[in-house]
Amino acid sequence: MNEKEGVIKYHLNHISKPLPQTIDVSELNSWRSIMIKLELIGQNPTRYEGLGFGNISQRLSETSHSFIISGTQTGHLDPLGKNDFCIVQAADPKTNTLISEGPCKPSSEALTHASVYLEAPETQAIIHAHCPSIWKNSSRLQLASIDREIAYGTPEMADAVAQLIDTQQFNSGGIFSMLGHEDGIVAFAPTLKQAAEYLINSLAKALALE
Ligand SMILES: [Zn+2]
Repeated sequence: MNEKEGVIKYHLNHISKPLPQTIDVSELNSWRSIMIKLELIGQNPTRYEGLGFGNISQRLSETSHSFIISGTQTGHLDPLGKNDFCIVQAADPKTNTLISEGPCKPSSEALTHASVYLEAPETQAIIHAHCPSIWKNSSRLQLASIDREIAYGTPEMADAVAQLIDTQQFNSGGIFSMLGHEDGIVAFAPTLKQAAEYLINSLAKALALE
């Protein structure tokens, strides 16, 4: 795999400012901590050249297009502080552009998150995990997947995600693997709990196959 995990590939218009006082990151942090304990999010010298992996986001309100997402290269931190999140105000997958504000820049995979929020209106939360067990067993688990030729963080990935959500008719959530992004899995749902459950259920099934 030649691609570098964690390198921002989109055009970013970012305004550096504190997160609004009203934003509560405790639920995001608690689910993220569970993901870190399961090694689905994190940072490890033996994985991906030591770069941080995985990220988590939540829509700011039920009908909003903006969402809060963990910051770029925060995989080594648990829990995250309020300075480790970013708000994506707008995203245009077609022009590969994001507008964000917050104390740090958004995760390198924020465009993929934006694409899911645009395409699946009932989605309130997304977890992007890196899981060798689920990823390797994608076809045996009958997971929906995005082609190996599509690299993460590109307009092609955003397009492919939109198409996948359309064709799979995921009702209010789902899980898919990105075969061109080593160990990359995305779970999305109306709640953080349900997104985490998609991952944990798939991990249990994958471990049963090994
Ligand atoms: Zn990733």
